[in-house]
Parts: sequence; C-alpha cells; structure tokens
Amino acid sequence: MRRADIRSLSFEELSGELALMGEKPFRAGQVFSWLHEKQAADFSEMTDLPKSLREALSCRFELAALKPVDVLVSKLDGTRKYLFGLSDGNVIESVWMEYRHGNSVCISTQAGCRMGCRFCASTLGGLVRNLTPGEMLEQVYRMGRLTGKRVSNVVLMGSGEPLDNYDNLIRFLRLITDPRGLSLSARSITLSTCGLPGEIRRLAGEGIPVTLALSLHAPNDEKRRELMPVARKYSLKEVLPACDFYFEKTGRRVSFEYSLVGGVNDTRAEAKALAALLSGRNCHVNLIPVNPVRERKYVRSGRRAIQDFKNVLEKYEINATIRREMGRDIDGACGQLRRSYQEAHP
Ligand code: SAH
Repeated sequence: MRRADIRSLSFEELSGELALMGEKPFRAGQVFSWLHEKQAADFSEMTDLPKSLREALSCRFELAALKPVDVLVSKLDGTRKYLFGLSDGNVIESVWMEYRHGNSVCISTQAGCRMGCRFCASTLGGLVRNLTPGEMLEQVYRMGRLTGKRVSNVVLMGSGEPLDNYDNLIRFLRLITDPRGLSLSARSITLSTCGLPGEIRRLAGEGIPVTLALSLHAPNDEKRRELMPVARKYSLKEVLPACDFYFEKTGRRVSFEYSLVGGVNDTRAEAKALAALLSGRNCHVNLIPVNPVRERKYVRSGRRAIQDFKNVLEKYEINATIRREMGRDIDGACGQLRRSYQEAHP
C-alpha cells in the first residue's frame, strides 16, 4: 500500500497522527509549518525536529515533492510553463504568470482529464489519475520557491476538472487558505469548471468563497454539446441555476469563459444569444481566442470577429474582456507540453 501523503493532511489530522506516534502536541505546529509555511521538499530539511522523529515520519509518510522536468520561459512577459514529474512517473503542467497586480499560478488538478472537450489538449489521453491535495499544493509552493517570488493568486485552470476530484480539491482549498500555512484568501483563488451542477452547489456550502468560472463556450445547449460532451449530461437549465445559487450563497460574481473558435461559435448572432442567455446576471465574460491544438481542426477567430463579439456583449450591458495572452512566444495550448513529453517518452 502507498504511504499516506503527509502534505495532504489537515492540521487536526496531523496532530492526531503525531499523538499516535507518542509526540508532544507542539510538534504538530512545527511539522505543519515545515510542510506549508517553509514548504519543505524533504523530511531531512526539517532541521529543528529530532533526527529520530524525521526518520519515523519518513517511514510512515510520503512527502510529495515534484521533480522539475522541463521549463519554458517567455522572453516577453516572464511567463513560465513548468513540466513537473510526480513520484509515480506521471507528468503534469503548471504555469507561472506575472501581472501588475501580482503573480498568478495556474495548476493542474488531475493528470489528464475525462471531460473530453473537443478543443482541449488535456483530455486527449483521457484521465490518468486524480492529483492529491499535496500534489496540488506542491505546484504552488514549488513555483514560488523556483522563482523566489510571492504567489498572490491561484487559478485552477490547468489540466483536469477540479470538481471531478472534489474531496481532494476541498482539502487543497482548506490547506492553502489555512492561516498556519500559505494563508491565501479564498478571493484570490479562481476555480474553473466545465459545469457539474451538483458539485457547484456543494462547493457553495463549503465556506470557501473562491471565484467560480464556468466554461460556457456556447450560447445554447445544441452548440455546447458539439464542443463539450459534458453538456450532453447537464443542460444549461441545470448549470446556470447552479451558478446563480453559487452567487447567492457566496456573494461572488461568477465569470463565464468563452473560447472563441473561428467559424464555430463566434458570430454576432451568437454574441447576441449569449447576451440574452446571461442577461440580468451580475457576471463577467472572459473571451479566450482558442489555442489551436495539433490534433484538432479548430482555429482561432480573427481579431475583428473577437472585437465584434465583445462589442455586441457590451451593447447588451454584459461585462466582457478579451483574455490577455501570456507567454505568446512559448505558446501551445494547455496540456500540449505534457503531451509532447509523453510522445517522446512512450
Ligand atoms: N476543467 C476545467 C478547467 C480546465 S481548462 C474547465 O473546463 O473549466 C481552463 C479553461 O481553458 C476552460 O475554460 C477550458 O475550456 C479552456 N481551454 C481548454 N483548452 C483550450 C484551448 N485549446 N483554447 C482555449 N481555451 C481552452
């Protein structure tokens, strides 16, 4: 059996484990601080613990540490795309982005994904496995350590569907917002989902009011089903009320993501239909020019079509922004770096 990952334990669980090992209560605070504040990559770094305790911990627990396998650094804006190795040999992608308002990290929640969105590279090989809370945290911690800079925002927009790995996701959110650790506020975390209504409603009740972003990508079910298989299971009649419920419960304005695909979902009529769909909502639309994936035929909309789409939304009083492209020189859609690595290392 695999040993439990110590970084995935809550403070209370860690205290319980240490008590079972016969340790005094103050050790829990020390170990938790090594794991989440000083962000140790190995038990041997925990120098103020007795050697016997460090050894006992390493026999009992795994400490998920990521192995940097590759990194692409943008010369334009400091964006960095990391490929990290997991302890079982799988690889995942994480991205570092620098903005005027602070540094943002985009992390993966699963190795692969089973949602099957047609334009997305992360889903091409299906789901390999869920990431543990410790593996999600380590992406954030490790990028902070590698760059030597402060992480101010976390976006869950890397590979995987966060709400399809619900329990691990909630643990991750509780740990990263824990005042004894990195202590990020829920407001500085954005969770992007393809739209699982049951889980969106459940998340609303967790007391962790992260910003919710819904991947919409179409103004109606018919078109959405073409692009996103998950839309065959849940219609917009179920998904949008779940988003409204999230807003009511948390007071957090929901964002809608709309990837513009040339000739597929980018006409003025579709913009108008989108405005009608969202009318009356306190929301924000993020327009993302689609990133072409080698294995798929989709192309991005022209500059003109993108601007027209935005103008139509604004005419109907829907807030919209065109997502600023980061790291244009190290381009390639999310999941593409991982995919190239897998092809080279079958
Ligand atoms: N599974 C989650 C989060 C991961 S993807 C979700 O579906 O929201 C983060 C965002 O990038 C989603 O809106 C997703 O639809 C979008 N996306 C994925 N591949 C893309 C591509 N090639 N071009 C543009 N957007 C893409």
